[in-house]
Amino acid sequence: MIVLRTRSAVLAWRAGLRGPLGFVPTMGFFHDGHLSLMREARRRAGPDGTVAISIFVNPTQFGPNEDLDAYPRDEAGDLEKAAGVGVDVAFCPTDPRELYAGSRTWVEVEGLDQHLCGRARPGHFRGVCTVVAKLWGLIRPDVAIFGEKDYQQLAILRRMHADLCLGGEVVGMPIARETDGLAMSSRNANLTEHSRQDALAIPGFMDEVRRRFAAGERRSAALIAGARVALRPGRVDYVELVDAADLEPVETIERPALCAVAVFFPSRGGGEVRLIDNAVLNP
Ligand code: AMP
Repeated sequence: MIVLRTRSAVLAWRAGLRGPLGFVPTMGFFHDGHLSLMREARRRAGPDGTVAISIFVNPTQFGPNEDLDAYPRDEAGDLEKAAGVGVDVAFCPTDPRELYAGSRTWVEVEGLDQHLCGRARPGHFRGVCTVVAKLWGLIRPDVAIFGEKDYQQLAILRRMHADLCLGGEVVGMPIARETDGLAMSSRNANLTEHSRQDALAIPGFMDEVRRRFAAGERRSAALIAGARVALRPGRVDYVELVDAADLEPVETIERPALCAVAVFFPSRGGGEVRLIDNAVLNP
């Protein structure tokens, strides 16, 4: 596998590349969720195509009191796992300046960031969009794969991709879960043994919401009633029911909707780990 460290190295590599190119941008510390995206990129690129990933903990998407420094990292392990699922090229910038030196341009998708993580983490999606736009310009993929675990991120990036005429295609992949139901996340590594158990309250609550919905409940308030109690081992950041397309809150579900949660649990480092999960409810 080729590891590229600089923007100029990426441009030189890309200039000489022919054939389909699949791309998976990541912040590293890989689990099976990341690997499922890479396998899909491999499948779509085909045997003659190329699969590229990026590993970059993007500072501009972290708020001042968030876990940028505590974000888990394991580049050597990641490269080995990526090679194992057929990744050809990894862009791992040595320094944020590689992407941000002299930068004055920000990409903001209006409206879709007013709820859920956008409201809870001001500036987060501006950082995500800006780095993905930069990476798209450098890598110029035919297809880029993202996870539905970050549902709002995927919705915002789809909008950005269309609005900026970036070319190629955006593809979403389902949430990969641990056998006990917890959504896989690099951040799970920062949970204490105790909070890892408590975090099961999240998939438990999502199952309950799905059950109520399957039983015919369509009122948002009733679907998420008792959320704060059900999620009590953690500190709830938000529990919301929004339209699956425009992410605006809904009172009654008549079109596909998204139930999304973000909950804090104690971390090994003494701070907190913020976990997210979601379920699409399709009437
Ligand atoms: P991250 O490294 O957390 O920025 O994630 C990189 C990509 O992997 C994003 O598109 C995420 O949505 C996706 N991803 C993270 N966790 C999961 C998961 N459990 N299942 C599916 N995709 C995921």
